[in-house]
Amino acid sequence: MAMVQGARAFVLDVRDYRESSALVRLLVQGEGLVSLVGRGMRSVRKGASAPVLQPFALVHLSYSLRDPDGLGALRSAEVERQYDVLRTNIEAYALAGAWFEILLASAQPGPEGDRLFGLTEGFMNQIQMVGSAVAREPIFVARDASVLWYWARLLNEMGVGPQFGVCGRCGSKLQLHHFDLRGAETVCADCAAEHRRYLPLTGADVRGLQAVFSRSIPKDRTPLPQRSVLLFLRIVRDVMRRHLEMELKSFGFLSEVLGGKF
Ligand SMILES: [Zn+2]
Repeated sequence: MAMVQGARAFVLDVRDYRESSALVRLLVQGEGLVSLVGRGMRSVRKGASAPVLQPFALVHLSYSLRDPDGLGALRSAEVERQYDVLRTNIEAYALAGAWFEILLASAQPGPEGDRLFGLTEGFMNQIQMVGSAVAREPIFVARDASVLWYWARLLNEMGVGPQFGVCGRCGSKLQLHHFDLRGAETVCADCAAEHRRYLPLTGADVRGLQAVFSRSIPKDRTPLPQRSVLLFLRIVRDVMRRHLEMELKSFGFLSEVLGGKF
């Protein structure tokens, strides 16, 4: 039996398990997806104070695991970081919910989950930083290019990143005024001419998407146009729906929060 001590992990999901235990699914640094039973750690205890472990928290834990795909036993856990922004900013909460739903649907046991862990920590730190930067003004976390940049990296990490900057039909780099959701690629004006199924892109959309899909994290804090953000999230949802072969429920909530259908 392998004993793991002092591992860092994000809590993905906590459920009641049998009489008084909790079933906790975590993304563990270096170990990927791990499912553990915490004896006497119900997700919500009657009359007790806060639940022991909550989704989105970054924790340190010790556990034992018989085989990597099985259920392990949680020995101890302590919270390294709670992300306050999730309680104060509903956009941050909705974005984190969608991110974690994708992790739950896609994370696998094993060390290759490590890159997802690093990305998740970067993403959570970024929404915390953006969401708490100016506490008295309304903050548009979802319109910050640096936040969406993590989403673009998540798509690329999963091998489903869309193609920008060149027409997916003819290779032209000019007049990329449309996006093909099915092929997840931009399409030039000439190639798009007869087809109505392509999404039209404005100049601001193209600039926004270029920033979001750039190699290094965008430094410009000017909020992206709402329209471009909804378009980007529509692309994310569509690509993920096909990749994971499931509907992501959290995207319905996210679109409500952002005040637009996508
Ligand atoms: Zn073309």
